[in-house]
Amino acid sequence: MTKQVPLYINGEFVESKTSQWIDVTNPATQEVIAKTPCATQEEMAAAVASAKEAFLTWKETPVSERARVMMRYQALLKEHHDEIAEILASETGKTFDDAKGDVWRGIEVVEHAANIPSLLMGETVENVARGIDTYSYTQPLGVCAGITPFNFPAMIPLWMFPLAIACGNTFILKPSEQDPLTPTRLVELFEQAGAPKGVLQVIHGAKDQVDFILDEPAIRAISFVGSVPVGQYIYRRGTENMKRVQAFAGAKNHCVIMPDANKSQVISNLVGASVGAAGQRCMAISVAVFVGAAKDWIPEIAEELKKVRPGAWNDKAAAFGPLISPQAKQRVENFIKQGQEEGATLLVDGRNCEVKDFPDGNWVGPTMFSDVTTDMEIYKNEIFGPVLCATSTDTLEEAIALVNANPYGNGTSMFTASGAAARKYQHEVEVGQVGINIPIPVPLPFFSFTGWKGSFFGDLHAYGKQGVRFYSETKTITARWFESDIADVNGPNMTIDLK
Ligand code: NAD
Repeated sequence: MTKQVPLYINGEFVESKTSQWIDVTNPATQEVIAKTPCATQEEMAAAVASAKEAFLTWKETPVSERARVMMRYQALLKEHHDEIAEILASETGKTFDDAKGDVWRGIEVVEHAANIPSLLMGETVENVARGIDTYSYTQPLGVCAGITPFNFPAMIPLWMFPLAIACGNTFILKPSEQDPLTPTRLVELFEQAGAPKGVLQVIHGAKDQVDFILDEPAIRAISFVGSVPVGQYIYRRGTENMKRVQAFAGAKNHCVIMPDANKSQVISNLVGASVGAAGQRCMAISVAVFVGAAKDWIPEIAEELKKVRPGAWNDKAAAFGPLISPQAKQRVENFIKQGQEEGATLLVDGRNCEVKDFPDGNWVGPTMFSDVTTDMEIYKNEIFGPVLCATSTDTLEEAIALVNANPYGNGTSMFTASGAAARKYQHEVEVGQVGINIPIPVPLPFFSFTGWKGSFFGDLHAYGKQGVRFYSETKTITARWFESDIADVNGPNMTIDLK
């Protein structure tokens, strides 16, 4: 029988009583490898009740003990790195190396969460008025929840629950229904690391289960990562219900290439950043903006793209894997057709891509358009496939204006040998994460993941200091003690025995 993915409620892996199940398939073969349950209302209510109960003791657990759980968890994740990557590759189709990277980026966040004692340190000022001091503490919120996308089933759950729990909260995770096996393994290891019963719960499902999270009064904060329409919906409904919400959404990331850039670096970085992970990364480069004479490199980049090919998770020579589903493949192919109809020049066509021994995979090969204009649908939409759109401008100013006019603001990069051009770009561009001669500038967890504009709805970002603030309250205490109350140790009113 096909494996049924368990729920994780009150410290137990349990089989759901639901009648609704969603198939989990291997995207290279279409083999159904598991079934995701859509948790029932009773099961979700039980998860909330257990998370509320666990919070009462977990918030009183000394911070150094909470940090030690994260240290043990980090060690276990490292020990099981390859095994988790294999599970991840089987349900996402990612190549093994890419799957390992997904796990590793999550491990780094757990390492960050292990620093929780210093991250929680508050502020103090003595003598804010005569004899009065003010100091602040960072306290947990209560029950928090996370809703995650399919494209990083290890990294993104690990952006959320370790830090939330290290802050003293309890957490309910709703992973993507398309690849729930990786998060299940992460949770087994979390339990093994000594996390007490109830601090982490996992409910599975889709829209109905998300709506439960959005409406459940006991849930104080929601972290979401996924597409733009769903992110907007979650931000609106969650905040209407008076919850704290951070919603990380889709993107259209531009790479600006100056004519003085290191050409071979540009070519190899652009190829990896546009079609790596089949373009299914929120920080993938999907638009290349060639400034001035740099546009002469377009044919060479197209030739390089033709040389890379997709393949199955166990194919060491493959540059990337299949798309997550037949629907995702169809959507990307529709965009390629539309791009041709809109008048863009199709330099590399990834349709009709075949991979030996895997006739049923959701394959789309590297694809590149040139002469793309900003009114085209292939420019306006996040395609989320291995498709690079090339456009050009005469000047750096025009390139900056083009990037700033785009509604998204997740990431951007610039390739140049000029410090002055780079300084101008990083200062003027209205995008939250900028790479200078770095194609995919994802900050390490001691910074925060800071998408802007249509790529992020909320105020406080993921991980780093902002992540800690998102999952906590600040309590500010102003205190005065009266000198006249000090016991007179020498006199008849002596109340303290100092011996
Ligand atoms: P998605 O929005 O389809 O799904 C994300 C989550 O929302 C899943 O858990 C899903 O079950 C749930 N969901 C889906 N439809 C829903 C609905 N109608 N109502 C309520 N919940 C719903 O996203 P996806 O396809 O899994 O992931 C890809 C998207 O995520 C891309 O747009 C990508 O750019 C984005 N993403 C963004 C970041 C970032 O940091 N900005 C990181 C990774 C992925």
